[in-house]
Amino acid sequence: MTIRTQVIPDSGVKTAVPALEPLLVEIHEEGRAGRHVRGGEEADALIPAAFARKAPLGLPELSEPQVVRHFTHLAQLNYAVDTGMYPLGSCTMKYNPKINDRVASLFADLHPKQPQSTVQGALTLLAELEGMLAKLTGMDAVTLQPAAGAQAEFTAILMFKAYHQKRGEGAKRHRVIVPDTAHGTNPASAAMCGFQVTTVKSDPHGNIDLASLKAALGDDVVGLMLTNPNTLGLFEERLREVCDAVHAVGGLVYGDGANMNALLGVARPGDLGFDCIHINVHKTFSTPHGAGGPGAGPLCVKEPLRAFLPKPWIVRDEQGRYHLDTARDDQPPAGLGDSIGRVRTFLGNFGVLVRAYTYMRTLGEEGLAEASNDAILAANYLLAQLREHYDVAFDRACMHEFVLSASRQKKQGVSALDVAKALIDEGFHPPTVYFPLVVPEALMIEPTETEPRETLDAFAAAMIRIAERAKTDPASVKASPVHAPLARLDEVTAARNPKLKWQRPT
Ligand SMILES: *Cc1c(COP(=O)(O)O)cnc(C)c1O
Repeated sequence: MTIRTQVIPDSGVKTAVPALEPLLVEIHEEGRAGRHVRGGEEADALIPAAFARKAPLGLPELSEPQVVRHFTHLAQLNYAVDTGMYPLGSCTMKYNPKINDRVASLFADLHPKQPQSTVQGALTLLAELEGMLAKLTGMDAVTLQPAAGAQAEFTAILMFKAYHQKRGEGAKRHRVIVPDTAHGTNPASAAMCGFQVTTVKSDPHGNIDLASLKAALGDDVVGLMLTNPNTLGLFEERLREVCDAVHAVGGLVYGDGANMNALLGVARPGDLGFDCIHINVHKTFSTPHGAGGPGAGPLCVKEPLRAFLPKPWIVRDEQGRYHLDTARDDQPPAGLGDSIGRVRTFLGNFGVLVRAYTYMRTLGEEGLAEASNDAILAANYLLAQLREHYDVAFDRACMHEFVLSASRQKKQGVSALDVAKALIDEGFHPPTVYFPLVVPEALMIEPTETEPRETLDAFAAAMIRIAERAKTDPASVKASPVHAPLARLDEVTAARNPKLKWQRPT
């Protein structure tokens, strides 16, 4: 990797920084070829003239090592779970065991349209995964189709709609209740299903405010979407009362299970009062994710919602063989029944589901419980080290993540964003910032169970150093990062005057 020297503002100290990698078109040189196979002309002659290209393709011309080095340099600029701690709250960036990929690769040659009789192993795996998820969450039935948490939310709210319609209450129920700490996908999913969103505030302990919830409830309510532990990393202390209140007006309770990493083998959402819950297997079950995918969001439901699950269902016949129940409206007499239909092609994000299955089978029930307990321990260990140095949003024992506030630092001129940027220079991926919205200058930290104690200590030390610098030298924090190939981006110009296409420098 090329290195350039950068002078740190204010101090004048020189530092080595990896240089930005030029684009392939920028290092292109006409006539330089990457092809080393002799006899290429003979091969070209085999292509019928009608199919031969008339004009050159216009790709950059480079030698093979140049291309390989280009992509290797880009990979070296990357920050990943495989290179260091990734405390991005709410995202559960735990280490992804490589055996997951190994097992997924065993299925790489399958075609989604293969006859069902030839994919019995794949169907068995999916059926077993459904059973394992149902058991772990305390639910009765599962669909593996949704490709993300957000899509599972959308699927569930469509099912809620179908459920109320079936009971003749579709017309009057049009409101979905969402707490003010919810992930943005919750209200978005409700709105996409055509429902109005009612926001309910949190109480001083970081729980959903029960009195406000009760005031918002009525027989026009479709249901409540609740995350537990919530996005503050806190267990909803009056969960049973919350669920009972929603059920009392005929509403359903949706569990946003993105935070299941705190509950595996510890508590089952089905026992806590939820009617359904989604699992972000790319978070909780260690399948690699980031930058928008790939993921999977299996949705686990209680018996009354089973009939509305997306089709096809994986069903087992008397001989123990699996097949897909693909019955559709145009195939009487079975029809779709009450199912809301398909929400994704084929059987969902199969490779991701195989990884989740492998993770669960390698850890076993005890291992999963240990993972959750360790995740909770790691978060509380960090919180204990940091609580003197930053404001704590809600001073309670946390679950698998916690939310600090940089309000104190803000008075010294250093914002949550500045703290996050300074962490880059300390060699860590920044935490989630400015979420949840109810905490000013929020820093949301989720260490996960896979970090060794030395790494947790190093992270805490880095956070404490930044808090000290905010007191003594806030300008240096605001100037960070200085060890990254790019410093601060000019976000205002990027928004006002975006350059969306590469242009050859003139
Ligand atoms: C990640 C997350 C989601 C959305 O899940 P995706 O798989 O990214 O669509 C929803 N709610 C919470 C609390 C989350 O952390």
